[in-house]
Amino acid sequence: MPDDYNIDDQVLTTRLSTMIKWAEQQHAKLKHSVDGLITADNIVGNTVTAVERWAQRNSVFPALFGLACCAIEMMAAGGSHFDISRFGSEVFRASPRQADLMIVAGRVSWKMAPVLRQIYDQMAEPKWVIAMGACASSGGVFNNYAIVQGVDRIVPVDVYVPGCPPRPELLLNGIFLLQEKIGRGESARETALAAAAGAAV
Ligand code: SF4
Repeated sequence: MPDDYNIDDQVLTTRLSTMIKWAEQQHAKLKHSVDGLITADNIVGNTVTAVERWAQRNSVFPALFGLACCAIEMMAAGGSHFDISRFGSEVFRASPRQADLMIVAGRVSWKMAPVLRQIYDQMAEPKWVIAMGACASSGGVFNNYAIVQGVDRIVPVDVYVPGCPPRPELLLNGIFLLQEKIGRGESARETALAAAAGAAV
């Protein structure tokens, strides 16, 4: 055995090289993660998404779709007293192709249901639905064969506004809730589509 052989030095050297190797691996992993998070693409992509959602949530254009007494309250929300235009939704469109929000204001008969669905299908993407009032949300007092017991049987609903009829302030509140959902990137339609795709697998 050579004189300069020292078992403690050997062990120390081996441990040090192992530690250096481990530190280098961790450094490489960390760098990879940070690079993935902070690439120019991600920053631009996230900013564009944020701007897109900001624009969408502040310019929700409802389709004209009043069905019964609740529609009067919806019209009042567009008047000067409640002034829905303060929140970017004053542009009620007569064409579904220029609208991205369906406010179902009133009871829906089964005879009307296919028409409602067709209008919904013709609306621009992305699109959202507010069920305004007890009738649209659940059939209300009309628990009979002629009335759809909740419009969510026909289209995916994002926000339910309670009341019979709900006052215009409640509809405005429903729009605020919808704007929050849009800001978070949520949509009942997307959820329904994802669920359908999952069920089909
Ligand atoms: S919820 Fe009341 S006000 Fe609205 S459509 Fe039904 S009955 Fe009319």
